[in-house]
Amino acid sequence: MSVKDKVAIITGAASGIGKGIATAFVAAGAKVAIADLNLDGAIATAKELDPSGKTTMGVAMDVANEAQVDAGINEVAAKMGGIDILICNAGIQTVAPLDEFDFGQWKKLLSIHLDGAFLTTRASLRHMYKQGRGGAIVYMGSVHSKEASVLKAPYVTAKHGLIGLAKVVAKEGAKHGVRANVICPGFVRTPLVDKQIPEQAKSLGITEAEVIKNVMLKNTVDGEFTTVEDVAAATLFFASFESNALTGQSLIVSHGWFME
Ligand code: NAD
Repeated sequence: MSVKDKVAIITGAASGIGKGIATAFVAAGAKVAIADLNLDGAIATAKELDPSGKTTMGVAMDVANEAQVDAGINEVAAKMGGIDILICNAGIQTVAPLDEFDFGQWKKLLSIHLDGAFLTTRASLRHMYKQGRGGAIVYMGSVHSKEASVLKAPYVTAKHGLIGLAKVVAKEGAKHGVRANVICPGFVRTPLVDKQIPEQAKSLGITEAEVIKNVMLKNTVDGEFTTVEDVAAATLFFASFESNALTGQSLIVSHGWFME
């Protein structure tokens, strides 16, 4: 089981977890397209991971924009020789209490996480079905795919929704050898989390150190952050598993914050 020479498109891969996954996939011999809203960041990451430019490429894409997703995924397929793996990772976070949540912010978050997952899935499946060589889709869920936290209504809603989408892809994709699974990380120190620490401190009326200790890592078994490398290793496992024995599943990588 290997991703060697497979073509993987990873959304939101110019930063944080997506960049870590891209690094692990390049090291494992995959051809990797770094798709991001931030084209300069995507190109810089592609160059950083393979200065020769032979096995990586950057591609601009707002995952919530139908035309950009279709064009971007078609471009990757044409340049790299199809699409074997989609890692649906792009995401944002916005925190506020429900009674104050701005409707525009609610819609924006759901659109990036859920419309983005749908659009990138649809565009990738069209290539995978036509190619007839199977495929793997991994969605970046969260412990918030299983559990709720205050201040995160649209995020928790969207992350729960990804599990439903993965199960449908597992059922529809089975006859084409396409598998779909979800990784559910705990807190990982990325720009997305660094931005939340002062926001949560303000909303909850506590210090930033208290947010880390008493909110983010409170229920872990050891008070540790999950790392980008931990999440990348779990993603690589799902993406390289080559039968329908492992499909429609979710795996929690969270230092025991949430146990099923
Ligand atoms: P990050 O902010 O470091 O990176 C997110 C990337 O997505 C950025 O490069 C950004 O430009 C890109 N992006 C944002 N909106 C986009 C759009 N509309 N189209 C294309 N690209 C877009 O965040 P991260 O922490 O690496 O998060 C990545 C994923 O992991 C998200 O889905 C997030 O919900 C999930 N996650 C993160 C954590 C954590 O603790 N960091 C935990 C669980 C799940």
